[in-house]
Amino acid sequence: MATRTNVTAPADAAARRAVRPVICYEVDHLPRYDAALYDAARANLTLIDTVIVPPREARTFRVPAGHFWRIASIEGPQVGDLNLWNAHDLTERFFSGKTRALHATHVTTGDRLWSTLPHLRPLATITHDTLGWYGFDADGGGVHDVIGTRCDPYTNRLLKGTDYHHCCHSNLTRALAAECGLPLDAAESHVHDVLNVFMCTGFTRDTHQYFMKASPVRPGDFIEFFAEIDLIGALSACPGGDCGAQHSADVAQCHPLSIEIFRPAEDALAGWHSPPQNAYSRSHGT
Ligand SMILES: [Zn+2]
Repeated sequence: MATRTNVTAPADAAARRAVRPVICYEVDHLPRYDAALYDAARANLTLIDTVIVPPREARTFRVPAGHFWRIASIEGPQVGDLNLWNAHDLTERFFSGKTRALHATHVTTGDRLWSTLPHLRPLATITHDTLGWYGFDADGGGVHDVIGTRCDPYTNRLLKGTDYHHCCHSNLTRALAAECGLPLDAAESHVHDVLNVFMCTGFTRDTHQYFMKASPVRPGDFIEFFAEIDLIGALSACPGGDCGAQHSADVAQCHPLSIEIFRPAEDALAGWHSPPQNAYSRSHGT
């Protein structure tokens, strides 16, 4: 086991380490995933829009509340970096960290994509995942992580001393600027930590460092979401391709991704409502 200090462990170190872990949040109290509702709604879908994301670029899409969308692999293994915003308020956006804390390091069918404080409500629910079979592999890797942040030109500059303009961060920034008619710097301030769609990642067992390995995704695979509120999404086809070797460069083989938007049958969501804003008073004790 790696240690980072030269201090001596106390005599009761083993006992201190052996206390039982407790799941941090009482997740049994989360709103239940109503599989019957979503399964009935997704049984009869009408395709209403398709967006193709070119390699090393991002594209935006809009999904009305109560609709579904799928992100699919179409020509070869490819990772996608996803951002989500409330279509009427860009300050309410996907909260990768709390999604991780409430669900797990990697998400799949039944998990929600939560929004930032003070909203903290489901932006979307994952309703199907053809990679749901993957689970966790012998390296501790899984797919669709909410632990990575996105490749970005600042970290690239820090590590390599060069400028690369097609990192997911820049791709998402350009796409959001075009979608909303924002200056680049304003759009950049809304770009946030992503859901790493199809990416296979984990932490090394010895040093607990973030690792990636070639994605198991193949053409025909898709992950499907239900929009709980009106959404703007942006998806970048990462310059890392399947992220089996490197990113932040034009070296990896990259492929497009497709985004398909679906409308369910008219009466399929009877009784369903968009989740309300979080009910906390925001008084903070004052
Ligand atoms: Zn990337």
